[in-house]
Amino acid sequence: MRIRLGCIADDFTGATDLANNLVRAGMRVVQLIDVPSDADRHAARQAADADAVVIALKSRTVPAADAVEASLRALAWLRSVGAEQTYFKFCSTFDSTPDGNIGPVTEALMSALGTDFTVATPAFPDNGRTVFKGHLFVGDVLLSDSGMRRHPLTPMTDSNLVSVLGAQTTRPVGLIDHTAVAGGAVAIRVRIDELRAEGVGAAVVDAVTNDDLLRLGAAVQGLPLVTAGSGLAIGLPANWGVKPSPTAAQLPPPAGHQAVVSGSVSVATTGQVREFLRSGRPAFGVDPLRVAAGEDVAGEALAFAGAHLADGPVLVHSTDSPDAVRAVQGQLGTAEAGELVERTLARIAQGLVERGVRQLVVAGGETSGAVVRALGVTGLRIGPQIDPGVPWCATTLPDGDTLHIALKSGNFGGPDFFLASFALLGEDAS
Ligand code: ADP
Repeated sequence: MRIRLGCIADDFTGATDLANNLVRAGMRVVQLIDVPSDADRHAARQAADADAVVIALKSRTVPAADAVEASLRALAWLRSVGAEQTYFKFCSTFDSTPDGNIGPVTEALMSALGTDFTVATPAFPDNGRTVFKGHLFVGDVLLSDSGMRRHPLTPMTDSNLVSVLGAQTTRPVGLIDHTAVAGGAVAIRVRIDELRAEGVGAAVVDAVTNDDLLRLGAAVQGLPLVTAGSGLAIGLPANWGVKPSPTAAQLPPPAGHQAVVSGSVSVATTGQVREFLRSGRPAFGVDPLRVAAGEDVAGEALAFAGAHLADGPVLVHSTDSPDAVRAVQGQLGTAEAGELVERTLARIAQGLVERGVRQLVVAGGETSGAVVRALGVTGLRIGPQIDPGVPWCATTLPDGDTLHIALKSGNFGGPDFFLASFALLGEDAS
């Protein structure tokens, strides 16, 4: 077995974002949730049918030693399925601290791969992330002037990525600046050779347009390791002669009932729930206080859904006004309320699948994690994009059936996201 690109992402939504970019550039992609166990033959079978595999870790803010250990395990698995090039995906705002984890993980991967050089760029111009003279811009402002300055876990107070990465690595860090990048793949390779001769181990790369990323992509052909946000993904598939094609996003045809489970209270999701209610389709609201009081709310939700699923999409949600959510949090505690709702919605999702739901939209990042765990999903084939950053995915259930699942973080998607998702899946299959 030989996959082309083996990717290690430091969080789940970042993994999906990368997978989505690779699919749009023409690769068939499988996303795995954590490193498969040796016994997980299904993950290996899925990988066999893909050009790229993205392993989603939760290593962005854990202690550096744990991030290194998980990343090396991911690398070993990717090498076992023949990955030709390794892509370490970090956040497009370079989320890290002087302790890591971008630097330590990069160096550990370099050592394991036996390579003395790699590139690093979080540039993703489509999302407003650009790098110029080594400085990262978020929209129109420097990283250090953006909201990331006050991030609770990884405050970014320096926009100069050469110094930020340098503080996290033992190897010298250099810069491939925009003049080399504008010169094309050959000029970038000349610059790489110069930096290598100077003993530089990792080079931050300027990129302000997609063309810059395409040129960089061509220049890094054959490098054992690249490190980047998800932007560089647009420039790599062409190195294997892969071109954008709708077949890359093709999933098995959809079947079964349709349902939405929403545990997100973000502004965008609240609008989407409102829009669904306005359409007159059946919806069940989960009241966390009734769950906390020991009532069988999950059972009620499933009985309600069971009565309506044959007629089209059903929504089960805990989405409520900010005041109502605050009141619940005040009474139960924020973390306790969150966990209670996640657990309940995950059980409901499981029950929905038992009742024949095979097309499931989940709203909320944490909620998605809980649902995926409850369903025992370990791998997702990435399909067509519903809205930027949110693709339909397909996974195989223990009984062999295909489940189509879309995992949406809170603030993604247009107002009509829920019904539009099902419409897209239907169209795509016809
Ligand atoms: P988002 O992607 O919008 O942040 P998440 O699922 O990541 O959504 O997080 C939302 C959190 O809020 C979850 O922990 C969820 O269980 C919790 N939650 C959802 N609905 C309610 C509610 N009505 N009251 C209290 N907490 C809630």
